[in-house]
Amino acid sequence: MKFVSTRDKDAKKYSSHEVIINGIAPDGGLFCPESAVFFTKDELLALKEKSYAERAAAVISKYLTDYTEGELKYACEKAYSENKFPETPAPLKKAGDNVYMELFRGPTAAFKDVALQLMPRLFALSMEKTGKMSPNNPKTALILVATSGDTGKAALEGFSGVPGTKILVFYPEDGVSDIQKKQMLTQKGENVCVCGVKGNFDDCQTGVKTIFRNPAVKARLDEKGIFLSSANSINFGRLVPQVAYYFSACADMDLGEGQVCDVTVPSGNFGNILAAYMAKKAGAPLGKLICASNRNKVLTDFFNTGVYDTRREFFATASPSMDILVSSNLERLLWLLAGPEKTADYMDALRSKGVFAVDTEVAAGMREDFTAYFANEKECFETIRRTFEETGYLIDTHTAVGAFAAEKYKKETLSASSMLIAATASPFKFASPVCRALGVSCGEGFEAQERLCAYTRLPVPASLSRLKNEKDRFYKVISPANMADETLKFAFSV
Ligand SMILES: *Cc1c(COP(=O)(O)O)cnc(C)c1O
Repeated sequence: MKFVSTRDKDAKKYSSHEVIINGIAPDGGLFCPESAVFFTKDELLALKEKSYAERAAAVISKYLTDYTEGELKYACEKAYSENKFPETPAPLKKAGDNVYMELFRGPTAAFKDVALQLMPRLFALSMEKTGKMSPNNPKTALILVATSGDTGKAALEGFSGVPGTKILVFYPEDGVSDIQKKQMLTQKGENVCVCGVKGNFDDCQTGVKTIFRNPAVKARLDEKGIFLSSANSINFGRLVPQVAYYFSACADMDLGEGQVCDVTVPSGNFGNILAAYMAKKAGAPLGKLICASNRNKVLTDFFNTGVYDTRREFFATASPSMDILVSSNLERLLWLLAGPEKTADYMDALRSKGVFAVDTEVAAGMREDFTAYFANEKECFETIRRTFEETGYLIDTHTAVGAFAAEKYKKETLSASSMLIAATASPFKFASPVCRALGVSCGEGFEAQERLCAYTRLPVPASLSRLKNEKDRFYKVISPANMADETLKFAFSV
């Protein structure tokens, strides 16, 4: 399998190694597989008998053909071992009429671990195989991450201590929860750095994208054998492990012949739901894909109108990992439906005017597979309370946005298919708003965790309760304009 850029009409081809190592195409586009992937019925059936790591390796091997089967199996077994995921990476839990796929059982208590425990292993393999680790000319990959809270910590956990890499995480100073901030500021490892930015997530993401396009920065890093890469969900190495859990869920759902299940995904950067779409296109028995947004409902409006318009007020919500106005992975869907030339035009318009409109056929194509809803803060909180009262199942603020959208979809369409909801974070990671939703009086951070634990009689994940006693290591907060300087400083530090 070769890969092409979403903006390149000449479709220059790249190998899996180049795709994983570089993260983003030279023209600013995103890498996509040049041809479709497909699973036969027998291959789908065979997944049922496999462990999670074997399922993941089987799915990933269809896309990343530069790795041997042995390499992928080994990497998946290490990434998804019991000491990282005590309960497997994607267990299904039934609550009421819905099935929740719990993607938050990893070390940072959010779904991004499923991809980011594996991706650095693939990254290191690709560095080796492309000669970047050769003793006479070793290279260093500097991973730049913009985070709305969960990516940062998951990427730090994944890359900490990985040879040949350094990782620098930028987070919006006031845009992440206390616990998310504590998780990042206490990160261990010699090759890691964390820096606050005076701005919101989009400022961080734009800042990182600008550094990638800056030739002067690139030249200075080049001299020292350093190159930039990304661990954001625009990296295809992040997407493909996510495709695997949708196949895994279908294998566990016990769907009858010809049956499909609908899927709801709480969305921000559009990576997780795009992975569901890729799984569906590759033959996973999935029905409608329901894109759930919070009050920052750019995506809901886009699916309903065909106009993607970022010229609007930005809200800081109780589901901060979805507080996003520019959903980067949408570009891959546009490329699939509209081709590279139109995609490049849409992205130009987005950058220069903050808005683009797709053609009617493209909009119709989107609606064949997707539908979209949003939940405001009140609806999100009520969903947490109602779900807990009616089923005893506790969900976090992001998952609740999904659960609300799923209910709305079922009410409107009377769909008879089973509903799979991606549960993207542990409720204890967002303990304070979850307490408020349940009407439990609490403070912030760790106090809220303890209150929530006492009220629900559910255990706090060990990786979260442990944090309380850990020391902060990073203190810097900068303005967006200084992100490039900060990058160079960290790159040249030893
Ligand atoms: C990142 C994140 C999301 C959004 O996922 P995307 O792939 O960016 O759409 C939703 N919920 C949680 C808890 C997250 O960390």
